[in-house]
Amino acid sequence: MERTFIIGGNWKMNGDRKSIDEIIKFLRAGSIPVNNEVVIGVPALYLDYVQQRKPKNVEIAAQNCYKAEKGAFTGEISPDMLKDLGVKWVILGHSERRNIFGETDDLIAEKTAHALEKGLKVILCIGETLDERETGQTNEVCFRQMKAVANKIKDWKNVVIAYEPVWAIGTGKTATPEQAQEVHDALRKWIAENIGKEVAESIRIQYGGSVTAANAKELARQKDIDGFLVGGASLKPEFVDIINSNA
Ligand code: PEP
Repeated sequence: MERTFIIGGNWKMNGDRKSIDEIIKFLRAGSIPVNNEVVIGVPALYLDYVQQRKPKNVEIAAQNCYKAEKGAFTGEISPDMLKDLGVKWVILGHSERRNIFGETDDLIAEKTAHALEKGLKVILCIGETLDERETGQTNEVCFRQMKAVANKIKDWKNVVIAYEPVWAIGTGKTATPEQAQEVHDALRKWIAENIGKEVAESIRIQYGGSVTAANAKELARQKDIDGFLVGGASLKPEFVDIINSNA
């Protein structure tokens, strides 16, 4: 099955109006293949600013949202609020949310279910730490993170998985194409067995972790890699090369 290549950017807690203007400038100047999808994860405060200025063929994502519609949840934002701004995507379960802010598998699953219910599309991040990889737990950890979500949702059509080994995020240590492909393949098999064959065939699995213009092409050639989630390099003009890496 043909899966649309999807490149996500994750600006994390970076940027101001001046630097965002620069990013928008290089996104507007660069070509984006018509068959590729591009989604950039913008700090909540700037979602509206970017929404007003982004090129038409780029969508924006929030980097988080809460599991409830509204109420006494100081500091949180809801899927309804994102939709009110015209935001269509949200990144959930990023390893920084899991490891710095203590988000559990269950909370991420609840957030995913609520965001989907509200009509958002979700980039769901999963991945193992270095210690987990070195002790042979990579698949077990990824499957556990997937299972928590599979327990709460039935319809996966608006979900993109981002496999992001934690040891590769922001470290300059990219997984080799073989290492990434191995986990993507295992994930697709797990999905076929535990969710369904059609979902396994159609769901897009991005790789994330120190993706650059220099390593993207080789990774993009792997059979089960359907795009990237890019942190640091999404703030730089080389992001356009990554967007074109499957060309
Ligand atoms: C990320 O933030 O999801 C990420 C993969 O970061 P980086 O590309 O900087 O490793």
